[in-house]
Formats: sequence, structure tokens, C-alpha cells
Amino acid sequence: MWKINTRSFDELKGRIDRLPVIETHEHWTGICPSNPQLDILCWLADSSYFQSDLGSASGDFGDRIPRPGFAMSPLLEFLLDIRHSFDLRYEAWRKYYDRTRHTAYAKAVFAGLHACWGLDSVEKRALLALQERMRAERNQEYSDMMLARHGIRSMIVNALTPFQDMMAGRTPYRKGFTRFVLDLPQYHELFSESSIRKPHLEQELGRKIVTLDDYLEGFELYLKHAIEFGIVGLKDQTAYRRSLEYGNPGRAEAEAIFNRLVSRPRDLSGTQDAKALDDYLFNRFLRLASKYRLPVQIHTGHMAGLRNDVVKSNPSLLTPMMELHSDVEFDLFHGGWPYLGEFLFLGKNYPNVYLDMCWANSIDPDYSVEFFRRGLMTVPHSKINGFGGDTHLFETQIGALVLARANIAVALSGLVDDQWLCVEDAESVARAWLFDNPNRIFLLGVPA
Ligand SMILES: [Zn+2]
Repeated sequence: MWKINTRSFDELKGRIDRLPVIETHEHWTGICPSNPQLDILCWLADSSYFQSDLGSASGDFGDRIPRPGFAMSPLLEFLLDIRHSFDLRYEAWRKYYDRTRHTAYAKAVFAGLHACWGLDSVEKRALLALQERMRAERNQEYSDMMLARHGIRSMIVNALTPFQDMMAGRTPYRKGFTRFVLDLPQYHELFSESSIRKPHLEQELGRKIVTLDDYLEGFELYLKHAIEFGIVGLKDQTAYRRSLEYGNPGRAEAEAIFNRLVSRPRDLSGTQDAKALDDYLFNRFLRLASKYRLPVQIHTGHMAGLRNDVVKSNPSLLTPMMELHSDVEFDLFHGGWPYLGEFLFLGKNYPNVYLDMCWANSIDPDYSVEFFRRGLMTVPHSKINGFGGDTHLFETQIGALVLARANIAVALSGLVDDQWLCVEDAESVARAWLFDNPNRIFLLGVPA
């Protein structure tokens, strides 16, 4: 796919396809249990970002008003309800698939199904045949084999299950392959007494959390355990909820909010009412990132799901944090989509900022090609992380990688044709973006 008619594309694409890859951002832990009951329409409805486009295109399906954020669209709810017959659900899926099949989200999921299962058609018969194969063959061994075949050597994971369960051995993960970051938002979005007195922090502390000092002490003890467990960084995606415009409030202001919340267990606070505490804690956690030398991954730009406000996720809103915490390394996510100019500026201007194209490659390939092209000309190539799937399954992960390798090849082969660099240099830039940079920045130690 994406054959580009330039002199150097074919040669460079062949080289880039063979490069090893370290993924900077995933959500699944590398475990692929077999499922003899797998329903292919449920799988298609629920396994990738394509569901957002289906939701976006199916405003005329059903009669219920969708709720904001991650809430399911009525179409998705219908497809996942296997009490409806396969034929009825296929008919509904096909109608909206036909409306949205040209988006990059659609390309990514079907590129993955093609690469992993040879799927070439979405006719009912082809999907049923795929379902039979996946029921029989889809398991841990198959998943590991596919990831190896596509050169994925390791992945940095923001687990969606409670991290304390991972540390306690209650959640399985693929050891030696999956590396973790600790998810921060839940620790600074405090709007009630129950959100403050987290059982796992109180367990670390060995006493009840009563003061702000207790809370911070409990968090740092927990963080130390997470570091011993092997986390390679911190991750924050608060831009889904609030603006990235963090202030630098004083302790007294934050503590007053904390004291009010902790002593009134039935009260709830609003986002703005608790902002000083939210901001204060975020700053304190960035101090810990500096103390323990942990890079911090931050979500910027486009958000999953439907109905959100993109303005609050503009990466340039983080400027005061990057100035203040100049001793912390930031890995800014998702190509800052759609804030390309601001995103490039931040990578060029701040020595402590890295630019990460995770997810962006399958949100907007043209934007990604433009990013890689302009990024090479404006930002040191040691500061760009080229790929993370940001997915939940090996097929969608590999589909996203197919797009990413193509995007990088299109951008760099164009620059070779323009005589900006030679093919050998283009290959070594691609290697830096896909493997060397994440390996170095996150201290992963994956053998070359
Ligand atoms: Zn993500």
C-alpha cells in the first residue's frame, strides 16, 4: 500500500520495513488469551479507534443521544449486543463502514488484519472465515510471532488496569517485552475525600492519609515501589479533562483545598474549585520525576472518543511547565495534532522536550508525513520518537505500524529526492526515530 512514485521510495521503504521498532506508547500488556467464542463484529466494533469514526458517521442510527467522551455510540452498543443476529448487526456495521472506510483509522485496522490474517475483503463470507480462524488460531504464540515478524522489540505501556494490581502480580503481562509508565492523573485530580484516601497509598504509608504531607509521602513511597518494579517513566493524559495550562500555585492555597476535601467526606469539588490543588500536585510530581530521573509522557492534541474540546490540549499551553521543570524530560504525545507548528517549535526550542508521534501516524498520515519532513529540517533527529500504536491488540498495533513505516518512508524518500540527505542517512534517521531514540531516552537497554 502507499506506493509512491519517486526514485528512492522503493529502496528506502524496503530498508525502513526491516528496521527494529520500540513502541513508545501502548495500552495492552502483551497478553493475548485465546477466545473460542470470538465474535468478529464485536471485535471490529470495539477493538480500534475506527469505532470513533463509525460513531461520528452514525448520528442517524438509533434515537438516543450519545454521552460525551468515551461513552459508546448507539451503533457500537447495537453491534456489541450479540442478542441481535449476526446478519442484522453486519447490515448495520456495513452501512456505516461504507461511509467511513477511507479514514486513516479504517486503513490502520484493515492494514493490521491484512498483515496478520491476510484479510482482503469485508464481505460477510470473508469476515465469517476470519472469525473461524481467529477462534482457532488467535493466541499468545500467534501474537508473539506476529509482533516479532513486524520487528517490534519492546513497547512502553500505560496499562488501563490498576497499576498496583500489576505490581502485586494480579495482572499478567509479557515480561521482558512490556515496559511500564505510571499513570499520573488519578493522583492529582482530587475532588473528594475518597479520591484522596487511596487504599494503596495508605497501605504504603501504614496509616490513614489526613494531611497533604501524608498524601505526598504515601505517593512517593508508592512511586519508589513502582521504580523498583521497573517503570521507565510517568504518563499524564489529563488534557482529556482539563486545560494543559498548569499554574504554579503556593502550598497554602493547595493545602486549604486539600484540608477542606479531606475533612468533609460527603462534599464534592468542581474542576475549577480544586485547580490550585491539581496544579500544585502536578508540580510536585514533576519534582519527583526530576529526583528519580523519570521522563514524563504527556498527552497533547486529539482525544479518543467523541465530543471533547481540543483547544485545552494545545501543547504550547505546557510552556510554563517546560520552563519551570527544565530538569525534567518531556515526551509530548500524538504529534500535538492538529497543532503541528506549535509542536515543532517546542521540540526545537526546549532541550528537555522530545516529540512523539505515537497514535498520530494512524490519526492523520498526511500530517505525519508533513511532521517527519518538517521535523527533520527543524528539530534534531535525536529528539523525535517515531512510533507508538496506542492500541489494545496486536493486529491494530501492527496496522498502525504499517502506516507509520509508510509515512516515514514517504517523508524521507521525498527529502532524498530533494537532495536534502542521502539514502544511507535517511535510513539512519528512521532507525533513530523508530528504535535508538526511545531506547536511549527511556533507558530501556534493548539490544540493537
Ligand atoms: Zn493512549
